[in-house]
Amino acid sequence: MHELACPSCNATSQYDLMDKLLMCPFCSVTFRISMETGKKEIYSDHYIVPNSCDQRQVKAIFTEWIKRLHHHAENVDKEYFITDINGFSIPFWIVSLEAHTMWKGLVKRQKSALDHGLGANYIMEEGQFRRNYRWAISARKNLCENWGMTHLHEPKERLEVDWDGFPLDSTFSRGRIDPSLGIKTSKSGDDELSAYDVREFFEFKYANGLPILTIQVSEEEALRRARNHVTNYHHTLAKLNVEILIDTRSELEIAGIQLIHLPFWHARYIYHPKSVLKHFHKAREKNVMLEGYAGGILKGEMSIVKKDKLLINAIVCGIATFGLFLLGAVWHNAFLLVGLFSLLVALLSGYMATVKSSSPSNRLNRTTFIKQGLKSDVGAAPE
Ligand SMILES: [Zn+2]
Repeated sequence: MHELACPSCNATSQYDLMDKLLMCPFCSVTFRISMETGKKEIYSDHYIVPNSCDQRQVKAIFTEWIKRLHHHAENVDKEYFITDINGFSIPFWIVSLEAHTMWKGLVKRQKSALDHGLGANYIMEEGQFRRNYRWAISARKNLCENWGMTHLHEPKERLEVDWDGFPLDSTFSRGRIDPSLGIKTSKSGDDELSAYDVREFFEFKYANGLPILTIQVSEEEALRRARNHVTNYHHTLAKLNVEILIDTRSELEIAGIQLIHLPFWHARYIYHPKSVLKHFHKAREKNVMLEGYAGGILKGEMSIVKKDKLLINAIVCGIATFGLFLLGAVWHNAFLLVGLFSLLVALLSGYMATVKSSSPSNRLNRTTFIKQGLKSDVGAAPE
């Protein structure tokens, strides 16, 4: 840590010179300092989306979310316990860009062509598409310092996301459960304003009590990563059109870049079932991630996933099999047949719980998301 004087208000404070941009705790001005010359330069494209949630509201949203997913909504208060709620204002580089992608590939014919040699079963197709984004790149060195920050992008298309950036507009408008939970989503009372629209010039006060995390990633790195993510995303989108993708080319036009601190909330909870499930269920802490602008659930881990249910099914059927075979041996042969069926179900459930659930398509399903009011990425023109 180094003591520096603010270039705006001249007050001295402690700064970590490894940070790419520094924020004065007194006047909220953002500046960078040159390591060679020591010259300070004010950076003015720094904004913040005000945090409008508190712990009580996060708890209310969480309870509502669980109630909608749970079979017995009346048991939720007795079975679900929040262990921890934390909020952060996290810096993101927001890159406004337009991406234009051309693709070419082979599509299989509906009817197979006879006598036309190799390749006759495929026809060449090509196309193009264009999309606008405000692409968000984390300005934190370690994406894993907060839960859920590695995969916030959830495209409408069924594809596996292997990039950490995300389109701000569609991400910060999803997962809202109930607009009547008392969160004001905008300064003018208009519900249609996006998180981007309500941003303010950066001032510490807009975090409304959340810790403000520092800026550890440079603008150049953010631009490079945004280009990589969008190119990668569009390449994956192009693949959906064809069986064999032969060529793809993306041209990116960067319209601008700015830094925005975004509010996030992270809740941890434990599920203690009161029913017969408690004998099979191992209580493990689960995570839920919310945005602090309108309280949308961005990502949530389920307490019981399909795999757990299949495993429970396998155990129950396994016990039944044993009982039925016993009955078959001492009483009537017909029980052996029923027992055989039960054994099959047990084996199948066990197989599906252990083998099938680790496939990529199931990984997509493992966490359940409520997608409401999902805005299209298309046509969200940057300013
Ligand atoms: Zn200052």
